[in-house]
Amino acid sequence: MFNSANIMTISTTKFSPDNPLMLRHNWSKAEILSLFALPFNDLIFQAQTVHRQYFDPNQVQISTLLSIKTGACPEDCKYCPQSAHHNVELAPERLMQVDDVLAKAKMAKQQGATRFCMGAAWKNPRVKDMPYVLEMVREVKAIGLETCMTLGRLDEDQAGQLASAGLDYYNHNLDTSPEFYPQIITTRTYQQRLDTLDHVRSAGMKVCAGGIIGMGETLSDRAGLLLQLANMSVHPESVPVNMLVRVAGTPLQNMEDLEPFDFIRTIAVARILMPASHVRLSAGRQDMNEQMQALCFLAGANSIFYGEHLLTTDNPSTTHDQELFHKLGIVSEQRDDISDESHTEIIDQALYNEPLVALYYDASTTQ
Ligand code: SF4
Repeated sequence: MFNSANIMTISTTKFSPDNPLMLRHNWSKAEILSLFALPFNDLIFQAQTVHRQYFDPNQVQISTLLSIKTGACPEDCKYCPQSAHHNVELAPERLMQVDDVLAKAKMAKQQGATRFCMGAAWKNPRVKDMPYVLEMVREVKAIGLETCMTLGRLDEDQAGQLASAGLDYYNHNLDTSPEFYPQIITTRTYQQRLDTLDHVRSAGMKVCAGGIIGMGETLSDRAGLLLQLANMSVHPESVPVNMLVRVAGTPLQNMEDLEPFDFIRTIAVARILMPASHVRLSAGRQDMNEQMQALCFLAGANSIFYGEHLLTTDNPSTTHDQELFHKLGIVSEQRDDISDESHTEIIDQALYNEPLVALYYDASTTQ
């Protein structure tokens, strides 16, 4: 029987090369539910302790997300204003020109972004789209930004083409638990999502995969989503945790308010389960006050989307984010400090049960 007291003992033990904290890939639903059930202070303490063993707690990675093709999506995701199945006032836009995307990327870089994410509302990219998206990857990379794309379902060949063009990350969210998923999406199966993530990983790209909280799912579904992510043979390097944005005209427009502490708990549990991953505070920040965002950072969130729009929904202004960072003493993560190579290396080491050394951040050395 799982005993939450044991987790406390394990997770608060100070890291040392002789006593490495291993990344686990064999979590049970019962263990994850026990984490959710911890007293709030214990859970946050544990998450923050784990967080400090892998990351600088005062650095947050900044990404910018651009919609490169908007609306008229054939999928029926109930939360999404871009689905053609819903009655949302949204003007569809064709695939952007490469030069226009590049201009937005340069602007994002000037504002402090280190990663530029490009999203297209497609079921999957078509053959005729590929040359354009590949060119976008090459051009954005050439100005010194990490690249991420979310284009829907990928086959093996498309994943290989994107990897060869230099795409760093591919985003494909699982959204929720396998059990709750059919109530949210019917036009794409859970297994198809997992297959796309497999193709991305096999092609050598980094995986960005997370989900949405507040769609009417149960606690068991939240645990089920995190179980899927945490038990992948390699954890997604990036784990976006979204709070549902209730857009008028979508089937989820009238969902009840989400209890903020439930959202913060989900961030904390994600941090504990996937300690070396970037946990991203994604959609829904516009509806969070500063105190809630600060608690999310304390719970282990260490990545945000920067910029006034997140695809088609609002996001806090960059000025507001800069002010919040200033109040909290948070700075943008410098990618030289935690390189992709060391990140990959640490995951590989953990997989083969060797001591973790590369990413250890000694919090006691900072004031
Ligand atoms: S979430 Fe993506 S796949 Fe689903 S409807 Fe929206 S754009 Fe299409």
